Amino acid sequence: MPTITDSITKSEKKTKNKDHKRKLQDQQDPDLVEQQSPKKDKKKKKKDKEQVSVNGSEDLSEKKKKKKQKKEEEIKKEQEVKNNGDGGVDEVRETDDNVVVSGKDISDVKYKALKSFAESKLSDELLECCKNFSKPSPIQSNSWPFLLHGRDFIGIAKTGSGKTLAFGIPAMNHILNKRKNTANKKVTPLCLVLSPTRELAQQIYDVLSDAGKPSGVRSVCVYGGTSKGPQISALKSGVDIVIGTPGRLKDLIEMGVCQLQEVSFVVLDEADRMLDMGFEPEVRSILSKTSSVRQVVMFSATWPLAVNQLSQEFMDPNPVKVVVGSEDLAANHDVMQIVEVLEDRARDERLVTLLEKYHKSRRNRVLVFVLYKKEASRVENMLQRRGWKVVSISGDKQQKARTEALQLFKDGTSPLLIATDVAARGLDIPDVEVVINYSFPLTTEDYVHRIGRTGRAGKKGVAHTFFMKENKALSGELINVLREAGQNVPTNLLNFGTHVKKKESKLYGAHFKEISADAPKATKITFDSDNED
Ligand code: AMP
Repeated sequence: MPTITDSITKSEKKTKNKDHKRKLQDQQDPDLVEQQSPKKDKKKKKKDKEQVSVNGSEDLSEKKKKKKQKKEEEIKKEQEVKNNGDGGVDEVRETDDNVVVSGKDISDVKYKALKSFAESKLSDELLECCKNFSKPSPIQSNSWPFLLHGRDFIGIAKTGSGKTLAFGIPAMNHILNKRKNTANKKVTPLCLVLSPTRELAQQIYDVLSDAGKPSGVRSVCVYGGTSKGPQISALKSGVDIVIGTPGRLKDLIEMGVCQLQEVSFVVLDEADRMLDMGFEPEVRSILSKTSSVRQVVMFSATWPLAVNQLSQEFMDPNPVKVVVGSEDLAANHDVMQIVEVLEDRARDERLVTLLEKYHKSRRNRVLVFVLYKKEASRVENMLQRRGWKVVSISGDKQQKARTEALQLFKDGTSPLLIATDVAARGLDIPDVEVVINYSFPLTTEDYVHRIGRTGRAGKKGVAHTFFMKENKALSGELINVLREAGQNVPTNLLNFGTHVKKKESKLYGAHFKEISADAPKATKITFDSDNED
């Protein structure tokens, strides 16, 4: 397991690099090492000189030797530039299932992607939760070998890819090994999972508490908007995994009821979203409370600069990056996208007409996205007045009401749901037939996430979007998404212009690419505090 300090100072980095260079030299061809030693080099030159004088002139083989030596020096220099001074060589491998793995020292046989659950050699207890799956999902098969060997890990994968178990099973394995190897059986948390939203935290908790039952791994979920009492009791009774949103977690730490000093497995889920929501100070403060010897896992849908900085600060210098289906951020081709340009005041009538078309049976799942929590309540009331059975989730509601609404939607009791982006982010909602964007989101990336709620698991879906003149700054990006997916681009959308502001878009330009330091910094979304922590 890598040893990490919260902030690796320059001198520490230099020492690390020197150590690594030394290791590299040890592994090199002895001839090459000899050429690098100045003392030996002098001796060798002297010997060569003597030989030249015996022969009277420098022969051909001598010239060849020099040439070889020069070439080797050049290769060494090149290698050093490539390695960027932090050891190992960057390697990239692409698998058949559209997964790209990159990082240093990734080709060891122990890091081979798993073809079956059995190959992981994990206990039956840990694999019990996977017994209904035929094989590991691509993110699981490519993450477990690294995570089970203690590597720090960056996963670019979406909810629905099986990423909860991708980090959850190695986390539990880590916990069980630690508890076995130390006499300390006192249950202070060993693993922390940070999530941007309450619903995602709850979803992770549901998966992990189920998966942990056979092996006795205990989890607790902490988030705001609900009483602290039961969360404090659970923490006091002893838990292995703490899953939570940054705001509530920080509160509980400050109250002294949540101790993280033993946490040696840390997961940041939806890291990009967490920073987008302005939680960076809380995340930093929480991470600094965990053990300095820890394994860090970050999952993110995109890789903007702020997330990259966080990873550099808190992760081992050589994390592994696994990108699942890099085109996942492009719109899903199984979704028919319809974009309609219309006026603000025309939206209510149009929504009702669309529901009569798409939700005729009143049994199929339809998800309506709005932007603001007040808008969610207004649209919900408007539809209820007109006789539609509808529920909503937004930051305006008490957590209990949000959980209930989501449950009613999931179990089909109320298959029409109004949601804000923040509340719906990351939720695994099955079988949504139609997504209606009543309001266009703040970013094109959110648009792609929204419409990705339908057309899942090989099914076809429809995404019907209202676009207003207030949204015209995003017309260029939306047109690109539509074109890329082979969808119709309405003329009145084209009239808003096709210009794309590259740096502002996370979808175009920032996905897993280096971005310049002057890219805009994330700020907390503050409209009426749709604050989900
Ligand atoms: P996620 O939210 O990314 O953890 O994905 C969760 C969904 O993926 C759930 O519906 C799981 O039942 C499903 N899932 C997890 N692992 C697998 C697997 N190996 N094969 C098929 N489905 C899986």
